[in-house]
Parts: sequence; C-alpha cells; structure tokens
Amino acid sequence: MQQVYDMVIIGGGPAGYSAALYAARAGLSVVVFEKMAPGGQMTQTGQIDNYPGFDEGIDGFTLGMKMQQGAEKYGATTVYADVIKVELKFHIKEVHTSENVYQAKTVVIATGADPRSLDIPKEQELKGRGIHYCAHCDGFFYKGKTVMVVGGGNSAVADALYLSRVAEKVILVHRRDSLRATKIYQEQLEKAANVEIYWNNGVEEILHDEKVRGVKLRNTQSGDVTEVKCDGVFVAIGRNPVTAFLDGQLQLDDSGYVLAGESTETSISGVYAAGDVRSKALRQVVTAAADGATAAHFAEEYIRDM
Ligand SMILES: Cc1cc2nc3c(=O)[nH]c(=O)nc-3n(C[C@H](O)[C@H](O)[C@H](O)COP(=O)(O)OP(=O)(O)OC[C@H]3O[C@@H](n4cnc5c(N)ncnc54)[C@H](O)[C@@H]3O)c2cc1C
Repeated sequence: MQQVYDMVIIGGGPAGYSAALYAARAGLSVVVFEKMAPGGQMTQTGQIDNYPGFDEGIDGFTLGMKMQQGAEKYGATTVYADVIKVELKFHIKEVHTSENVYQAKTVVIATGADPRSLDIPKEQELKGRGIHYCAHCDGFFYKGKTVMVVGGGNSAVADALYLSRVAEKVILVHRRDSLRATKIYQEQLEKAANVEIYWNNGVEEILHDEKVRGVKLRNTQSGDVTEVKCDGVFVAIGRNPVTAFLDGQLQLDDSGYVLAGESTETSISGVYAAGDVRSKALRQVVTAAADGATAAHFAEEYIRDM
C-alpha cells in the first residue's frame, strides 16, 4: 500500500526546510520536493549578512545545505523532482511529479517567487555584481555610493526609501510620468533629499567594465537617450510567485501570491503557504524560515484533529 505522508513540502528553500525541521522534530513523516538545489534563491547570493546567528555572514549555498541537513537529521527526506500538479481538495492530498504520485495529509507550498528581470543584455552576467533584485539584501554594499532603482510601484519606492538611508544618492527610474505606489510612500519619497527621479524612462543598456558604471536610459516619449552614472542598479519591477502548478486551486491575492495570513493557512484546510509565495510584507530568509515553522505548527494541530 502507498505511504501517506503527514506532510509534503513543495520547495526546498528556507521556508520548506524550516517547515521540514519543525515537522520532523514533532514526529511527523515529511518529504520535501525540490526541483533544483536545496536553498532556493539563497543559492544565488554569495553572502547573506542578515540571517541571525551568523555574525560574519554566510554564503547562501552553505546556508541552504545546513538547513537541509538540519531537517534531515530529524528524519525529513528530500526528493529531487519538479512538482507538476497537485490535488488539494480531498482529505488525502496528492502531489504529482513526472515519475510518481505522492499522498499526504498536509501540504506546504514553499515554492518562492522569482524577481522579474529587465531582459536586457548583460543583466544575467552582472547579477550580484552591480545588478540586484533585493534592496534589503544588497543595499548595504552601496554605503556612500550612488544607486539606481528601476520601477514605480510600492516595492520600488520602498526600496528607494530604504536605499536613501544607506547610499549617498538614489536615482529612481520609472517608465511613466507618475508612480503607482501608495500616497504614503510617495509623500515619504518627496521628503527624501537625496532621491532624484527620472520620469518616462526605461533602462536600455548597462554600462560596465568589471563593475557597473551606469546605464543608458531611453525616454519613452521622446526617444532621447541619456547616460546616467551609478554604482549599482536595483530592479524592482515585480515578482512572479511560483504558483502555476496549483492550477487555480488556492485563492491568490491581486498580485498572484497565495492568500494566507500569519497562520500560513490557505483557502483549503490542511494546505499552508510559507515564504515568498505567501501574501506578506517582507520577503527575506528570516521571514521565510518563520513561515515554515508556523506552517508546521498549524499542520501538526490539523493532523491531531483529523
Ligand atoms: C540574489 C538574491 C539575494 C538575496 N539575498 C538575501 C539576503 O541577503 N538576505 C535575505 O534575508 N534574503 C535574501 N534574498 C531573498 C531570499 O533568498 C528569499 O526571501 C528566500 O529565499 C525565500 O525563501 P522561500 O523558501 O520562500 O523560497 P525560495 O528560496 O524561492 O525557494 C523555493 C524553492 O522551491 C523550488 N521549487 C519551485 N517550484 C517547484 C516545484 N514545482 N517543484 C519542486 N520544487 C520547486 C525552487 O527550486 C526553490 O528551491 C535574496 C534573494 C535573491 C534572489
């Protein structure tokens, strides 16, 4: 007879392995599905300085491996496979890979969210070396320098405000002539003396040698090209939460994140959303790990009452 796991976790990032650690320590049978490498987005960064407990920082790949080892020490297992389909509405839920179907009493969705890229030449090559997608993660490296933020929504303005407290100067570039960010953010931005805004401009080219030196902007109305000097570029044009495989089974918020509050409980009982894929204010390693622990806590209660 096929094993019914207490918990299936989809995604082996900090949210997934934190849920696995807490659930395994509570004596639940747990399997984590990961389609790439343990650690998730953390593997894309050389240095994480804001996860508590590592006073000299730690590289993202090592932290991912440590999280996996910590969970597996208590009995969680990892299956390296892409989850392509789920059936969540029944008491016993199903998780499909191309090879097998797995059954579980609870499912934790911890598939993260991919930052949208500008899709311009050299962007991928310079990722982490002047092109960034997370101001709270990498802003610190630009103390006293000039940075550019690309975007016009709440995230872009929040990033610009955060960076205005770290960098000497912030240049905000937006394709339109007004921001989409909420009024409160816009008011704060107006008060920030070191933020300059380029309206109606898009980034056309990154100027660099070994480091980023500036960008070429093209005016979306006149077509004029301007070269602007900066030491780093923060891209804040939105994220794509990884939810396609859910096929509409869970309620999402307006931006496509899985709708779940602090309890991580989704619109279906026994299904939890943890980490960047969940509707929330701050997407970081520490908040992903916190979500994973919370999901395991509520899943354990749910199984007890089944
Ligand atoms: C370049 C970069 C630098 C960053 N630096 C920092 C930093 O310094 N400090 C900080 O706190 N945060 C940082 N962050 C943000 C942080 O990495 C994320 O907030 C965190 O990793 C989110 O964790 P998560 O577990 O929710 O999702 P993720 O880390 O995105 O993990 C999701 C995992 O799910 C897997 N997956 C997705 N779909 C499927 C599927 N269908 N089947 C199987 N597996 C699947 C993915 O392969 C991935 O491994 C950084 C992010 C980036 C991109």
